[in-house]
Amino acid sequence: MALAPCPNYIAGEWLTPRLSGTPVYNPSTGEVIAECPAGGAAEVAAAVEAAQAAFPAWRDTPAVERARVLFRFRHLVEQHFDRLCQTVSREHGKTHAEARGSVFRGLENIEYACGIPTLLFGDSLRNLARGVDCDTIHLPLGVCAGITPFNFPAMVPLWMFPMAIACGNTFVLKPSEKVPLSAVLLGQLLEEAGCPRGVFNVVHGGRAAVDALLTHPLVRAVSFVGSTPIAKHVWETGTRHGKRVQANGGAKNYIVVMPDADIGKTVENLATAAFGCAGERCMAGSTALAVGAAADRVLPELVRAARAIRVGPTDRAAQPDMGPVITAAHRDRVLQLVAGGEQQGAKVVADGRGVKVAEAPHGFYLGATVVDQVQPGMTIAREEVFGPVLNVMRLANLDAAIELANQSAYGNGAAIFTQNGAAAREFTLRVKAGMVGVNVGVPATMAMFPFTGWDESFYGDLHIQGKESVQFYTRPKVVSSRWFGGDVGDVWKK
Ligand code: NAD
Repeated sequence: MALAPCPNYIAGEWLTPRLSGTPVYNPSTGEVIAECPAGGAAEVAAAVEAAQAAFPAWRDTPAVERARVLFRFRHLVEQHFDRLCQTVSREHGKTHAEARGSVFRGLENIEYACGIPTLLFGDSLRNLARGVDCDTIHLPLGVCAGITPFNFPAMVPLWMFPMAIACGNTFVLKPSEKVPLSAVLLGQLLEEAGCPRGVFNVVHGGRAAVDALLTHPLVRAVSFVGSTPIAKHVWETGTRHGKRVQANGGAKNYIVVMPDADIGKTVENLATAAFGCAGERCMAGSTALAVGAAADRVLPELVRAARAIRVGPTDRAAQPDMGPVITAAHRDRVLQLVAGGEQQGAKVVADGRGVKVAEAPHGFYLGATVVDQVQPGMTIAREEVFGPVLNVMRLANLDAAIELANQSAYGNGAAIFTQNGAAAREFTLRVKAGMVGVNVGVPATMAMFPFTGWDESFYGDLHIQGKESVQFYTRPKVVSSRWFGGDVGDVWKK
């Protein structure tokens, strides 16, 4: 089959650079479906200069007009929803249902950004001092960059650029080289929506493109989502070069199961949290902390649920429960982590390692796996696995569970399953995580709330999404004004 085109988008032109690139796979079949060009300093410079040139006119375009472009873009994303979801499934391996869910989350970010005229309202006070008025206005920054991971090919870019451009900035997106095709399609739809040339640009590549963005003097702000070591690198390098940076990193999320939890609902939620999107989610509930008698109640059901999950290709009409992981190398890393856990004394009680998918023998598959009796010192307990693997750890009481969860270097999500309000309240206040669920397994926030990772899950001050994203993509100016002789007299006098 012919490879899908994977052009850069610079100054309103779709350009296929003559660069050797990296293969883009369909993880369901193991086939190469595209080649992602490995852009570097030259491509980044061209895109940043185009974005800089487009900035003055876009900045001065009234917010209502910028919003209109986003309303049209929103409409087009809805109109091409199935095509976008198919692209996500094809290059990432998500099931159609998962792709739809993720693109919906992205769509909500466009919808939120459509409210930009009111989101940009500033504070205002007349007669702050005698005859002096004071106004806060929120101004765009200039050229902003977005660097995104493989696991949400459409949603994560949509976390960034709709709000950035709504605020009056211009944007350069560097999507993951593993899943560049959804970003290309989003760019085509934004172009069709009437976004002026140079306002939005796409440059493909890996480390060289990222480093060029982080050091380019015209880039004012960088939004990053990816693994923790790269998030730290992006934050350190970007801030050292004078840029505002928000960098989301990896995670290890704990789900506490109390002995009084509703078993059926808890198992259903645990299975979705651990195995949804084949575990390739920064909000995956990858470790169950079973308190007291909870383990004996939950574990047999959980094993049954894991074994019932049908794995298969997501690029055809009949859909499996779970798709492949992103690459063969990633699958092998997950296998190694599970084997390491076993060597260190953990017990694999549902084993998806040998899964066979007859209709797609070259796909990158792993079955749902449950590892019991995981201990805190084990590598599998500390490292982000990012695959369909659920660790189970047993704790005597809620205190011990919170203490263990709080030892994590990360701080993205945590959840508790219980029917006891006091336990839930204590957990939500004491657990060291920025997004907490009470009987909600994946407490990932939606567009209007910030995505509040803590510690090694986030570097920066202002998070992605919600009002914090408006603050991130703007800077405030406070204007104090006095007009001599401007006494309005008694306005109430008839
Ligand atoms: P990754 O860190 O490998 O890649 C992310 C981006 O960084 C890509 O665009 C990639 O090209 C670039 N990159 C990779 N290596 C680089 C290097 N050495 N120097 C500069 N840039 C480099 O992440 P991934 O594997 O694509 O995504 C999975 C990770 O993302 C997981 O750790 C997951 O938890 C995390 N993630 C976090 C969130 C969140 O909001 N906290 C959301 C989604 C994914």
